[in-house]
Amino acid sequence: MTGPGERGECPGAVAGGARVPVRMCVRCCAITDTPVVVSVVHQGSGPGFTVYACRDCAPHFPRVPDVLSLAPEAGRGEGEGER
Ligand SMILES: [Zn+2]
Repeated sequence: MTGPGERGECPGAVAGGARVPVRMCVRCCAITDTPVVVSVVHQGSGPGFTVYACRDCAPHFPRVPDVLSLAPEAGRGEGEGER
């Protein structure tokens, strides 16, 4: 039984002209207007690309490591006072 359950996208049907930049979720391939950056791929040459996920799938992704804000592991294993 095939009911009319398909939700076809109708581009241009939005009145007002306010086009919201939407992104496709990399996990469920859903178009979301609230994209969450889950990964940033850096390429050797040129700008990389950003991977987006919807808010529902975002928690399923590991946190994006902040390379620039990673604290150096200095003093680790030193001064632990382990006897
Ligand atoms: Zn998703």
